[in-house]
Parts: sequence; C-alpha cells; structure tokens
Amino acid sequence: MAVNIDPKNTPPGYEGQGFFATTLDKAVGLGRANSLWPLPFATSCCGIEFMATMGSNYDLARFGSERISFSPRQADLLIVAGTISKKLAPILRQVYEQMAEPKWVISMGACASSGGIFDTYSVLQGIDRVIPVDVYVPGCPPRPEQLIDALMQVQEMARNERRDYRQSERYLKRLEQYGIE
Ligand code: SF4
Repeated sequence: MAVNIDPKNTPPGYEGQGFFATTLDKAVGLGRANSLWPLPFATSCCGIEFMATMGSNYDLARFGSERISFSPRQADLLIVAGTISKKLAPILRQVYEQMAEPKWVISMGACASSGGIFDTYSVLQGIDRVIPVDVYVPGCPPRPEQLIDALMQVQEMARNERRDYRQSERYLKRLEQYGIE
C-alpha cells in the first residue's frame, strides 16, 4: 500500500527519490523543537491561563508539549506563571538549576516578568533577577494564544540552536551573570 508522507516540516536539506539529507544540527533541532516538556511553576492567576492552554480548546499537545513534568530533571521548558515572592526566588532558582540542558524559560505575565502590580517589599520584581529568561509574555493575565505564541518562539530557538551553543563562551557568560555554574 502506498503511503503518502507530507514532509511539510522538514528542515532545509537535499532530497530526491527516496532520500533526504540534512545536517545533524537541523535534525536535532527538529526533534527538540517538537518535543518540549514544560514544567509549570505556577503560583497564582496566570497559572489558570496556563491550565486553559493545556485544555482541549487550545491543546498544547498539538506542539508535542502535552507531557507536563513536575520534576525539573525531566523538563526542558520552565514556564513561570504568577507572582514570585522574594522568599520563593531561591526555590525557583534551584528548580532551574536542576533542569538538564538544553533548557528554556518563559516568563508568563506581568508578575513573573516585572512584579506586576505588586511593587512591594516582598515580591521579586522580575524572575530575570535570579534566572535567565528566553521569552517574556506580557499581560495580566496573558491569554492562552500569547502563551502558545511564546512556545512557538521557543520552538524557533530550539530549531535553530547550534548543538555546541550550550558549551559556548557566550552561553557560559550568560549563566555566569547569574552566578550559575
Ligand atoms: S500577571 Fe496578573 S494574572 Fe498573572 S499572576 Fe500577576 S496578577 Fe495574576
């Protein structure tokens, strides 16, 4: 029986009758981008929008990301959704450090990105004070469509990342700024 395969999402490469060739970087990027495993660090109302994004209406499974992880060791996408108090900051950082490379971070909503309306002594004024952030999602709360857009941006980063980027001087310097080894 003939099988029709629609190679819509194949990375750039050479193809012909019965073969397709590309670079290892592109093949690895394709796999990583389509199997991001999110770890929701949801502390307040933005977390509810995250739940809506996982539900059948928005269905993050379409992006290969339905496998939510509550263990940092089995996740590569940290989604911080909600207000982070200063007391909680070291825990957030510990969770980030426990995640294996390569890993990405989405800061979802005004609170995670800047403290939001809580300009108070007890609230961290942005998670990028303790961990590096890849994509910021504005809003209070952001809609699920915005979170999906952020995920797609992370997919783009993962797809185009060089395999040696995580060992590069540039990346190590970025971690060093946060005192992360
Ligand atoms: S940004 Fe708004 S919706 Fe999100 S956690 Fe803060 S107060 Fe709640």
